[in-house]
Amino acid sequence: MKYSTRIKNHFQSAWIWFLDIDVLQWALPIILAVTAIGFELAEHWDKEELKDVGHISEMIIFGIVGPIIINRILVWMQGLMNAQKQANAAIVTLNRELENKVHERTAALAQRNVEIGRANAELKQLDQMKSEFVSLVSHELRAPLTTLNGGLEVALQFAEGLPPAARRTLETMMDESARLTQFVQTILDVSRLEAGRFTLNLGPVAVAPILHRSVEVILGERRAIKWNLPTEIPPVWADETHYEQIIRNLLFNADKYSPVEKPIEIKVQIGTGNVCVEIIDHGMGIAPEMQVKIFEQFQRGQVGESAPPGWGLGLYFAKKLTEAQGGALTMQSPTWPDANYPGSTFSVTLPIASDVPEESEHA
Ligand code: ADP
Repeated sequence: MKYSTRIKNHFQSAWIWFLDIDVLQWALPIILAVTAIGFELAEHWDKEELKDVGHISEMIIFGIVGPIIINRILVWMQGLMNAQKQANAAIVTLNRELENKVHERTAALAQRNVEIGRANAELKQLDQMKSEFVSLVSHELRAPLTTLNGGLEVALQFAEGLPPAARRTLETMMDESARLTQFVQTILDVSRLEAGRFTLNLGPVAVAPILHRSVEVILGERRAIKWNLPTEIPPVWADETHYEQIIRNLLFNADKYSPVEKPIEIKVQIGTGNVCVEIIDHGMGIAPEMQVKIFEQFQRGQVGESAPPGWGLGLYFAKKLTEAQGGALTMQSPTWPDANYPGSTFSVTLPIASDVPEESEHA
């Protein structure tokens, strides 16, 4: 380094040192005191004025009191600066701690995400295994059940000569076997639908014939039906078999969960681009806590010995089937002013066939 630069640096550091408030708070008052007293002495030296009270007071004020006040002010400023320095240091420490905490938490979160991802993958795999297992068991059960049903049907045909108790047993066996077959079929359908292996044959479907056929099969002449259909209903875009399955399911429930003397209403409303079929019963209705989970698997409003037979799968499957056809299945209860029989309305909405865009027709 050049000599001149070195001197310049020394000068600069000396100047910075002098400007330091620790030095300044003493240096400045001393310089002021020396200057003021020196100036007063030089000005009035050898003169009588030096003994004058006025000049002595001037020297005390400018040479002692002034520098003391300046010293006090600088000490007070130094206190403020120290407090600010401490606050800054505290902020820096706090920031560092916060940054460390954020790093720790981010690392912990990343670790948790990895664990959740792993658990999720395991759950998916387990779910897949469960579906495959259920599907396999149901499939294996179907064949012996078909044989059993056939055998029982034949046995019932020749049951004339049997004692009444034996015939009743055969009939009960037939009913139970049919129920079990239906259960196995539903389980199979649900697992196929969940696995995306459920084939739908979508096309234009006439609504009214499906409604009439379903009423005939499920209710027959047993109940009063209140029809509320428009004269013309445009065909909907659906899979005929499965659309009918949904309607039958809802009629079956309306029959099961409402007193036989109360009519069931079937109403069709044509909306913008869709047709909505409403099955309205005047039964006990659905409690609010049940309404929120009614379309979930194995949810049943009534359980125990006195509960109507069922597995809590019908509505779950019906909703999945409706959605797979591009529609919606919703529920409302109560809909009836009678507090004891508020009833419920189940609505199946499907798109009007002519309104379905061409690309989804081929999907
Ligand atoms: P399941 O009838 O076999 O129990 P669902 O999935 O068809 O199964 O119905 C689930 C539950 O929803 C039923 O257990 C019943 O409590 C309630 N539910 C369905 N339909 C009606 C209805 N129309 N009125 C009153 N409750 C109903």
